[in-house]
Amino acid sequence: MSRWESLLTVQEHDTRADQLAHRAQNLPARAELATVNEQIGAVDRDLAVVESRRGELSRSQQRLEDEIASLTERANQAEKQLYSGTVSAPRELQALQDDVASIRRRISQIEDDELEIMELTEPVDAQHSQLTAERGRLDGEAMRITADLAEAEAEIEAELATVQAERAEAAAAVPEDLWPEYDRLRAQLGGVAIARLAGSTCQGCHLALSAVEIDRIRKLGTDETVHCEECGRLLVRD
Ligand SMILES: [Zn+2]
Repeated sequence: MSRWESLLTVQEHDTRADQLAHRAQNLPARAELATVNEQIGAVDRDLAVVESRRGELSRSQQRLEDEIASLTERANQAEKQLYSGTVSAPRELQALQDDVASIRRRISQIEDDELEIMELTEPVDAQHSQLTAERGRLDGEAMRITADLAEAEAEIEAELATVQAERAEAAAAVPEDLWPEYDRLRAQLGGVAIARLAGSTCQGCHLALSAVEIDRIRKLGTDETVHCEECGRLLVRD
């Protein structure tokens, strides 16, 4: 058996590990999660707008209620004075009555304003409920996808651990002096540094070597270093 065989076995495991890493990077759940997170971001932005509008309306309503409370207090005071018997001059009594009537009218106007604000609040509250429900649905979706993703990642992790253990075993049998070129070619040639020569075809680039080159290679021992003339990869010969 050629001394390159063990390196080819290492290559097969490295290729498998690369594929697993690629699969882990490109799990569909990863893209799904990104999409759901974008949707969550959009809902949160809408919620912030709606909540700010709700806050404005609620503050306006509170201001009106405070005003109503203070006017009601004033009207009650004036009425108390009116019926206390301490004021007897008709002109003063009339003035007090006018005052009470005017305050009551003002209260009634403010109550109308408050009603308007409550009507404006209704659709905003409805929108808030709808967005909150949507946010909840998306949270659930994100949780489900995250769980799916973790499961898929764990499966890949387990497979990768097996591949790496097997790779370590194969690597122990590789002669030390073969590593530098293997590492260099792997970095240069998309992860594949070494391939089998099947007939006259390099299994690395799938191109046929020239008859002259095949003829030259055949005369060399299988332990000799041979590169594919097309792609430059190391070739393992039977
Ligand atoms: Zn080749």
